[in-house]
This record gives sequence, C-alpha cells and structure tokens, in this order.
Amino acid sequence: MNRYPVIEIPFNYRATCWFCGEPKDQIINFPKYNSEESLLTHSPICLPSCDECAAIIKRSAFSSLYAYRDAIKKALVVKHQKILSIGSNWTKQELAESQLEGSAFEGFKRSAWFMFEMMQGRINYQGWPLVIANEKLIIESEHESFDFDGVTYVSLDDAVTHAVKTFHLDEQLFTRVLSVIGKDKFGNAIRLCRLYPALTSKNRESVFLDILESIGL
Ligand SMILES: [Zn+2]
Repeated sequence: MNRYPVIEIPFNYRATCWFCGEPKDQIINFPKYNSEESLLTHSPICLPSCDECAAIIKRSAFSSLYAYRDAIKKALVVKHQKILSIGSNWTKQELAESQLEGSAFEGFKRSAWFMFEMMQGRINYQGWPLVIANEKLIIESEHESFDFDGVTYVSLDDAVTHAVKTFHLDEQLFTRVLSVIGKDKFGNAIRLCRLYPALTSKNRESVFLDILESIGL
C-alpha cells in the first residue's frame, strides 16, 4: 500500500531501485510506520526499491531518507563483505594473470571481478533527485544534531545506535517505541525497552503492544 506520494521516476530509471540501482521489486513507504512521521525532517514519500534493500534494515525511527539510505549501504557492505574483499585483495589484472590453477579457481576468476564490480556499483549508487509534483524534496541536513543526557550526538540516528549498544536494547523494539512516544522522550523509551533485551520476532509485537498499553496509548 502506497501511503505517500511516489517520487518522480525518470524514464531511464523506471525499473530501478533508488537505493542501489538494481531492478526494483516494489514501491516502499518511507517512513515504514505512520508513527515515525513526526521524527522526519522532510515529507514522507514512496519510492522504488529492490527486495533486498527493502528488507535489510529491521530498525526504524530514521530521521531522514538519507539516514535510512546510509543504514542500507552499511548493511549491504557487511552482508556482502566477502565479495567486496575481492577488490581489496586483487586487482583486475592480477586476477586475470594469476597462476593459481584448478577448476574451482577458474570459475572464481571468471565470476569474481564481475561480482565485485556489481556490488561496488550498488554501494556507490546515488539514486536520482527526489522530486514530488515538480517540486524538489528538501532534506535539510543529513546531520541534525541530537542532545541526550548531556551529550550532543551528530544525529538522532547516532544517538539511537549508541543507546542500543550501551543499554543492550532490542533495536527494532526501541526504534518503534521511540517513534511512537517521540524523540523528546528518548530516555523514557530506553527505560521502557531495557526490560526486554532479547526478543524474538514472535514476541516482539506483543511486547510492543504491552508497552503502549502500559503508557496509556
Ligand atoms: Zn536495492
């Protein structure tokens, strides 16, 4: 379901994932949950994505599409570390001229550089300008600083990452609770979620609903 206006898609990009340049599989809502709209520094939008980019990030409560894109790219780098390391360990020529023998290595030589270049292209891909109804979408600054507990974080997302690590929070639960109660109650969100450090996808939803009930929402 498209809840928001879809960004304009130039003809040449009509089948392309905005995040990585691969073929698109779906149109996603950003933000994922209505409750996150209040955290956004720009209007909510819909945009084309491949299935992998759409599913790779489990947390929510991003402050902008750029922050979300950064998280996707980081996750792609981690997931495809092996393929990307080909480019660090070899140059194209070394690979072609290498004397290593064996049928497994021949197969590797044939496909490795191609796979590396494809993955590198996805990581470096920049999308196209975000335009809705002939108007360019303004995304203020990637880093609107966020203060919590006397510390100024470069962004809300940085503060979230820090809190998840420091307080051993369940990332998906914390970001959903945060988006519902608002970033002004960042400390409350931590306190509520600290009680549930290890969740499964099965009980996360019921814990989330319990928390909402406990604070009268
Ligand atoms: Zn993609």
